[in-house]
Amino acid sequence: MDSCSHMSSSRKSWLPLTIGLLKLHPYCEKCGAVKNVSSDKGKNTGYFVNSLNELKRFLEKKGYKVSQSQIRLIVKEFEGKGLNDVYSVSFSMQKNEFVKIVKKYIRVSEETIASFV
Ligand SMILES: [Zn+2]
Repeated sequence: MDSCSHMSSSRKSWLPLTIGLLKLHPYCEKCGAVKNVSSDKGKNTGYFVNSLNELKRFLEKKGYKVSQSQIRLIVKEFEGKGLNDVYSVSFSMQKNEFVKIVKKYIRVSEETIASFV
């Protein structure tokens, strides 16, 4: 995934919404990414790093050790998938994918992970 700095075009494009209506959306004139204009705004990587640290503290109280390299791998995969792109990715999508990634590296239930996001 590239790391476009995103610059909204002055023009907008019509995109179908899930309810079947069309709505004008701004998009990036450099890469064409469509801007997320819903109230479900994405959060920066730092937010998810905090979640990971809270999950780590929680698990360590239960005697399960989480290493810094596990955390680094999770963050790397999260950013590698472009999920830190707050221009176009919604928070609910970030959360959904974050839970799946964390589960690959830390053996804990999705519910537990989600409760820290
Ligand atoms: Zn862009």
